[in-house]
Amino acid sequence: MLGIESGTVIEDITWEEIPAVLAGGGPQIIITAQVRLHARRAARCGICGRRSPGYDQGAGRRRWRALDLGTIRAEIEADAPRVQCTVHGATVAQVPWARHGAWHTRGFEDTVAWLACVTSKTTITQLMRVSWRTVGSMIERVSAEKRAQRDQLAGLTRIGIDEIAYRKGFKYLVVVVDHDSGRLVWAAPGRDKATVLKFFGALGPQRSAQLTHVSADGASWIAGAVTGRAPQAVQCTGPFHVVSWATEALDEVRRDVWNHARAGQPQSGGRVRKYGRATGDARDLKHARYALWKNPEDLTARQAAQVDWIARTHPYLYRAWLLKEGLRVIFKLKAHPRLAARALDKWLAWAARSRIPQFIALGRKIRHYRPGIEAALRHSLSNGLIESVNTKLRAITRAAFGFHGPEPMIALGMLALGGLRPSLPGR
Ligand SMILES: [Zn+2]
Repeated sequence: MLGIESGTVIEDITWEEIPAVLAGGGPQIIITAQVRLHARRAARCGICGRRSPGYDQGAGRRRWRALDLGTIRAEIEADAPRVQCTVHGATVAQVPWARHGAWHTRGFEDTVAWLACVTSKTTITQLMRVSWRTVGSMIERVSAEKRAQRDQLAGLTRIGIDEIAYRKGFKYLVVVVDHDSGRLVWAAPGRDKATVLKFFGALGPQRSAQLTHVSADGASWIAGAVTGRAPQAVQCTGPFHVVSWATEALDEVRRDVWNHARAGQPQSGGRVRKYGRATGDARDLKHARYALWKNPEDLTARQAAQVDWIARTHPYLYRAWLLKEGLRVIFKLKAHPRLAARALDKWLAWAARSRIPQFIALGRKIRHYRPGIEAALRHSLSNGLIESVNTKLRAITRAAFGFHGPEPMIALGMLALGGLRPSLPGR
């Protein structure tokens, strides 16, 4: 019931009642198993498992929380002596039921890590009665163990390298996704060439030479690192990135129009007039923001009405929206790369004539990255997978608020999106 493996002797089972005032909520019962290790499992280094001579009694007896037994909290209590490892020095001895440095059993940590991959922060902290910060430490241990067991970088040929913002855009991660499996295979804090080079360092020259395609958002610091370490790989700019540039450009246009609407009546002179009717509809424009970001087929009836309203009242903003949508449709033609290339020509001409500065600039940017964009279309890199990994990663970066740094967030990403989710104990 406690998930203790062989090699452990249960000496006694005791229980105690914690009064309601201390337990927070109702009174709680804690069942504690007093255990000791079998001689063959005792006196091993907690880090490497080497048999080592005893050092001292450490901090004496210690408790580990196990999975609840029904409604009752369960704990394991045992001595926690230290051993003298030849490699790690004086270290707390290994116990079979818990990871080194943990205050919870393996079964408990695996359950928490499993839950973190599938459900929300509040669900986990309430169900398991642990703080979110503690969840972060557990995820780190589970993830590190899984990563040591499996080589995440084996057999990569087509990858995507991306940056993702967290902490409200103040900090960044570099993430690497496998186009073929759709898995997150590597992540580290940073937003520079040095971080990308760290990835190639982990990959090594032999496996770097196996890469055939690398997709990225066109950032020169990524391209530079790829050219240096994997010159044979075709560098692509994924349609996903191009469409997200267009969404950003549209958002800038919307903010401009909104700012003018908020400023009240248009001033005399030409510039303001082009934004359309600038009366007191700033609030409506602000609310229409989500409708403009979404794909037309996903709009709710209310959002579709908002887009209609923009078409009638803000032709300038509506033209920007049409440009973004046009671009998105082109990348849906990926089964017909030649058709898509011709459509892109037309789109570029349209953008150049649009008189919307943000889209004129976007047109220039797309011309600049065109070889990479066409390469992505030709080799039909699985855009959907990258997009869905990105969306899930963004959700993880939001949930990671309250963790003690980027490491638990990366660990959670690897567990949930890297195919490292642990199985539930006993199954
Ligand atoms: Zn050791």
